Amino acid sequence: MPTTDNSYPKPAVSELTPPDRTLMGPGPSDTNPRVLRAMSTPLVGHLDPSFVEIMDEVQELLRYTFQTDNEWTIPVSGTGSAAMEAAIGNLVEPGDTMLVPTNGYFGGRMASMARRAGGTVVEVDATWGEPLDPTAVDDALAEYDPDIFGFVHAETSTGVLQPNVSELTAAAHEHDTLVIADTVTSIGGVELRVDEWDIDVAYAGPQKCLSCPPGASPLTLSDQGMDKVLARDEEPRSWYLDLSLLEGYWGEKRAYHHTAPITNVYALREALRLVAEEGIENRWERHERLAGALKAGVEGMGLEMNASEDYWLPSLNAVRVPNGIDDGAVCEALLEQYDLEIAGGLGDLSGEIFRIGCMGHSARPENVIYVVTALGDVLESMGADVDPGSGVTATRRALEKTE
Ligand SMILES: *Cc1c(COP(=O)(O)O)cnc(C)c1O
Repeated sequence: MPTTDNSYPKPAVSELTPPDRTLMGPGPSDTNPRVLRAMSTPLVGHLDPSFVEIMDEVQELLRYTFQTDNEWTIPVSGTGSAAMEAAIGNLVEPGDTMLVPTNGYFGGRMASMARRAGGTVVEVDATWGEPLDPTAVDDALAEYDPDIFGFVHAETSTGVLQPNVSELTAAAHEHDTLVIADTVTSIGGVELRVDEWDIDVAYAGPQKCLSCPPGASPLTLSDQGMDKVLARDEEPRSWYLDLSLLEGYWGEKRAYHHTAPITNVYALREALRLVAEEGIENRWERHERLAGALKAGVEGMGLEMNASEDYWLPSLNAVRVPNGIDDGAVCEALLEQYDLEIAGGLGDLSGEIFRIGCMGHSARPENVIYVVTALGDVLESMGADVDPGSGVTATRRALEKTE
């Protein structure tokens, strides 16, 4: 008998009982129960014939959701940042130049990833809370002649939806520049047409408007995008995310590269099946309608949106924090008193905005009424100049009008 080593006492951890939150922050969003059920079905091997069929189905569903015919459409193992790093780490070669935006948190992350891939980063300037101006993009393309241009379609840090996507891609292609779009907070929530808009590479995440737990993240590349990856002189710095190797698993061969996160692929399949059942256009319309009621509610109680109507992002509503109110204390009170998650601002907008998501399964009338009611109550209790009753009335009217 080995002697008992008391320096490692057996932990007494209770059964898992997470609180029942309503998730209205920047993600994750509430999960549809059908997705959670799919996750409790039995595991099969990652090369099981039944799983190979599931892989085909997921790829087909992803193409529909991205609105693309791209053959190179896969779920990347990991969160949205893994799909982001797969896109940037494979497209950007040492010595390449990548043009990135400065108008939010995720443009900054693009820059970090491009530098780590050995690229030179140049910037197109825009303020946090504003979209990119096509003229400024045009000028930056002319000035730097970059190999890659990255932009964020739905900037989760500012609640800004980038309009004029086709204009941006057309300008880039005139300079033989490939375009990478961050569509993490737009996929399945707001209009996104990868082929029609001529986006070369788009990456996304499952836990925002697809309402799927994080773990397998959508990525799509056009032939031109993939040609650049396959023509690299030097291997990408990540073995795990090397698309030329992942091709062996997701392409024709179906050979082992790494073990796919089986359960997350099940989840993504069910989440995407829900998208197809609803119809992608209907789903975009639902987000606009439900987030419109949310917006009517916060404006009705006397708050202001941070982004102008022209580039309002339905899936992430940036609301100005009223004077004298501490955003952190509000988020804490909502979590404690209402089991409700929303978020405060990041970076340049830290302390200035609330970020209220309206994504996927969270974009339902009962959630919208709940968040408007709870936010009004908490703000009033903290002495803010708001009229919670008018907020709830405005939300209800907006919902009735559009039903
Ligand atoms: C959430 C998010 C990401 C990163 O995704 P993770 O799943 O957190 O890794 C990237 N870009 C945008 C716009 C996002 O909202």
